[in-house]
Amino acid sequence: MSGRLTVVGLGPGAPEWCTPAVRERLLTATDLVGYDRYLAMVDAAAGCVVPARRHGSGNRVELDRARHALDLASAGADVVVVSSGDAGVFAMAAVVMEQIDTHPTRWVDVAVDVEPGITAAQAAAARAGAPLGHDYCVISLSDVRKPWPVVAARLDAAAGADFVLALYNPRSRHRPHQFAEALAVIRRHRAADTPVVIARQVGRPGETVTFATLGEMTGGMADTVDMSTLVIVGSSATRRVDRPDRSFVYTPRSHGTAPASLQGRWLLTGGARSGKSAYAERLVARSTAPVVVIATAEAFDDDMAARIARHRAERPAQWRTIEEPRDLVGALASVPGDACVLLDCITVWVGNRFHHDGVEAGARIEAAAVELAQAIAARRGPSVVVTNDVGLGLVPDTALGRRYRDTLGRVNATLAAAADRVLFLSAGRAVDLTALDRIT
Ligand code: SAH
Repeated sequence: MSGRLTVVGLGPGAPEWCTPAVRERLLTATDLVGYDRYLAMVDAAAGCVVPARRHGSGNRVELDRARHALDLASAGADVVVVSSGDAGVFAMAAVVMEQIDTHPTRWVDVAVDVEPGITAAQAAAARAGAPLGHDYCVISLSDVRKPWPVVAARLDAAAGADFVLALYNPRSRHRPHQFAEALAVIRRHRAADTPVVIARQVGRPGETVTFATLGEMTGGMADTVDMSTLVIVGSSATRRVDRPDRSFVYTPRSHGTAPASLQGRWLLTGGARSGKSAYAERLVARSTAPVVVIATAEAFDDDMAARIARHRAERPAQWRTIEEPRDLVGALASVPGDACVLLDCITVWVGNRFHHDGVEAGARIEAAAVELAQAIAARRGPSVVVTNDVGLGLVPDTALGRRYRDTLGRVNATLAAAADRVLFLSAGRAVDLTALDRIT
């Protein structure tokens, strides 16, 4: 072996957060390689002037930097590659590994190792209390190394799985709008009172740690977030505790056995017998709020009467059912604002309206759908609305059939636009139509 290369993390900034092992490597190295800003932190992290030669470079040239460091070591130098926080978290250790993996015969003479460091997430969490006390997910919001739809899809999945989220690289000058979009994705799954920690320049001069809620993360508050900030968004279990001298945010060690409570406005669409109603019932069963079913079907014949009776019998006894074939806004007004509403279904409602109001009722029904969407949006409690996609088959051969199909299609689009989540069901399987096109 002709040389040595160690990838180290300096910690977030404070000298006491740089490990003794990293400090020792900084002091024994002949050459330091890193992003200019991190090299400028080396003396402060080590607590003294580090004598090694410095090879600084810009933020976006990681590959060249790793190669340069390996070349220096190959020529006999004792090289330390410097990252902030931990070298393995969105930092240089992976870049060095990628290089030696890509070039298996080059740099075989260099002994490579990695020294751990305290990450920004750990430091921010310690300042806040214990927000990472249970399962959490670390996500970089930067779209420099992955496309934004991937960022959005991962956020959606992690927020949907009720992980606490530690968000790195949250908001840069080049993409200020993406942070708002990220928050919009998270809001689909989290209540407005979810605790948020905004930790800026942790362990560095000018450190600020601010507590907020997800609901407060708009305008001015969101604008304080930048690339020197780590944002932690709590799970459904994360709490804030206020003491006389200071407050903490923490996530209890035990999550309990109940899954996360249902939140937001859902629209489920699909064909007949696709599994929509069963899926909708499973969703509302997750609600901790009392469930009110608004059923639109009328028992025109024995078959319908039997279907209605079966549905009722299959639902949990504590769910209240309101039968309302036409006036859904009125029915909603009689439901407490924080109850969970299951509205089943729009298909039958549109049919009932045509039946009672006549063939020319299309425009009026569409207007009623706008009012319905507004009434749903005004509620605090979660809602699940079931409808059908009847437009996938042949063109109906009666004028009324065609009008019904068109009106229902437009009503569905109105309700989808007002929903937080839209699912399409087929053969008992759900496909998420919430669509990244709303956030890209
Ligand atoms: N390797 C580092 C992360 C590098 S990515 C680590 O383990 O922490 C750079 C991002 O880390 C920044 O955009 C910011 O989100 C976060 N970060 C790094 N240092 C920080 C600090 N002192 N305070 C707050 N956030 C910090």
